[in-house]
Parts: sequence; structure tokens; C-alpha cells
Amino acid sequence: MSQFWSELVHNLDPYVPGEQPKVNNLIKLNTNENPYPPADSVLEAIRNATDDKLKLYPDPNADLLKQRIADYFSVQRNQVFVGNGSDEVLAHAFQALLKKDKPLLFPDITYSFYPVYCGLYGIDFQTIPLDEDFAINVNDYGDQGGAIIFPNPNAPTGRLLTLKEIEKLLINNQDKVVVVDEAYIDFGGQSAISLVNQYHNLLVIQTLSKSRSLAGLRVGYAIGHADLIDGLERVKNSFNSYPMDRLAIYGAVASFDNEEAFQQSCRAIINTRETLTDKLQSLGFKVIPSTANFVFASHPDFSAEQIAQKLREKAIIVRYFNKPRINEFLRITIGNNDENAALCTALSEII
Ligand code: PMP
Repeated sequence: MSQFWSELVHNLDPYVPGEQPKVNNLIKLNTNENPYPPADSVLEAIRNATDDKLKLYPDPNADLLKQRIADYFSVQRNQVFVGNGSDEVLAHAFQALLKKDKPLLFPDITYSFYPVYCGLYGIDFQTIPLDEDFAINVNDYGDQGGAIIFPNPNAPTGRLLTLKEIEKLLINNQDKVVVVDEAYIDFGGQSAISLVNQYHNLLVIQTLSKSRSLAGLRVGYAIGHADLIDGLERVKNSFNSYPMDRLAIYGAVASFDNEEAFQQSCRAIINTRETLTDKLQSLGFKVIPSTANFVFASHPDFSAEQIAQKLREKAIIVRYFNKPRINEFLRITIGNNDENAALCTALSEII
């Protein structure tokens, strides 16, 4: 096994990707899904898309969805790329946009797929340490790299960069593509999509998996300058693949058509996040200020593994990491009010 793979396997945490344990009344707070179901209008649109139409191939360009996304964010259709979840969009971005002769820069604590994609596509990378309080310092991203990627807010810390800081990064790195992965932006952050017409080196990637309750539908998209989008389309076309199935196209369009349901579930999650943060702090946890649909917290007297294990015995699953510097932290997805109440009761019994 190459050193890359052996290190990767060694560093794997106890998380089983996509684990859906079959336990009755399980409270699943480990994969940052939305606890609220998609709106009825979305389910209805998906049902309607099945009517006698599934026997037909979908539109190979998913133009209906691209146009809806373009209208929603006030950009042109040729500034929008769509894919099967933002993981696929990220995979295309890694292949299309990142220079192979200079390392890709990303934070040392970040979304675990980035080094995996680098390994798969032979991209050299360099990690930039977060500062003491787990923030990304944009001044640390200098001359050495060929491109930059980071989630905003970052995962698994939940810490947000302001638009001002992102602009500073873009100005300082005009020779590099800067990819901002906004999987969690709708839970209190400000999207950098407003900057794409000003900074042609900026690519913003979002997903319908988190704030739009559609992780199972697999829809993600990228927005940026038409030339960057063209680079992504070329990679996609080299696979000759359909970007989206018919159900995903119609379900996603319906989600953008229902602003009220979207805003309501984001607000509910933000409120619950604040309630949970207060509770954790009252139990002695250190909680990193989160702008995501999860919190990142550690306790001085109990290891993350111990707490996670005890919660699991109470049918609540949360995530922890076997990685230096963050191995004392739990990452807890924000559930609905009942799930949160059960979590708080369980934690009170453990701590
Ligand atoms: N980016 C980040 C930072 C994530 O945490 C995730 C989901 N775990 C993704 C991208 C991918 O999400 P999806 O493929 O469901 O859109």
C-alpha cells in the first residue's frame, strides 16, 4: 500500500460512511442531515416527475434546473454547473480546475474528502494549520499553491469566514482558483455567490443535502465565471454522463420554488443550535461558535469517545474523530426539538 493510502486508512475515524443502523427510535446526529422532511411541494414535484416519464432519458444538460438556480442567484445559466451531490461537483472541480504542478492548499482540519480526491486524481496538496481557536487565517494562504479550497463554514469546526475575509483572500490570490465549499452556508453565513461576477477566480459550491433536506436526492451545484463552469462541463462530458436524473431535476427546482419552507427549516435549526450550545456550555463543554447545522464541542473531564459511546448506548449517535488536535471533540448534528431534548437529557445523565 502506498504511504498515502496507508496513512489515510490509519487515520480513518470510527465513522462508517452512510451508516444507517437499524435500531428503533435511533437519534441519528452523526452525518449533518436535516431533521426536517422536504416540503410537500417538493415531494409532489418528484411524484409528478414519475408519471409516465421515467421511461424517457432526462435532459442531458439539466437546463431547467440550471436556469432555476441561475434565476435564484441572479447569475447567467452558463455560470451554473450541476451534479449528483456536491461531492460529485467537488470531484469534477478537483479534476478540471486545479493545477497539477503546484499544490492545492486547504486547512489542516477540514472536510475529509479533500485529501481523498487529491489522492485519487494525483494532485499534490499542502495543508495550512488553523489558528489556535480553529479559525482559518486568510493571510496564511500565500504564494506557494496553485489553488485554494475550504468549506465555509469549515467542517467539522463550524467556524465561518466573513465575506470581507474571503474578498481579501481573493484579492491576494488572483492567480489561483479559489473554491468555496458552502455545504453549510445557509445556517447563518453569507454566501460568496454575490462575489462571482467580481472575482473570476472564484468558484462557489453548494448542495441541497443540508439546508434543503434533500441528501437522498443527490443534488449539488457550482456557480462561478463561465470559463470555470466550462472547465467542469468538459470533465463531465468526458464521462458522457447525465448530470441529474429526472426526479432530482424536478425535486430540486421545486425546492428553489419554496422559499418559505427552506427559510423555516433553517431558522428552526439555528434556534435549536443556540439551545444546544447553551446546554452544552452549562454542562462544562467548550463549544466552538458554529454557523453550521452541527456543533463541535469538547469536555474537560470526559473523552469524546467515552461520551459518544455512552450516547450510543442510549440510541443517540454522534461523531468523533481519531485525528490529532480534534480527537477530544464531538461533532453533533442539530436534530429537531424532540431529538435535541432527548440529547440534552442523555448528556445530563452522562456528565
Ligand atoms: N462539503 C462538505 C464540507 C460536506 O460536509 C459535505 C457532506 N458531508 C459535502 C461537501 C458533500 O455533500 P453532498 O455530496 O451530499 O452534497
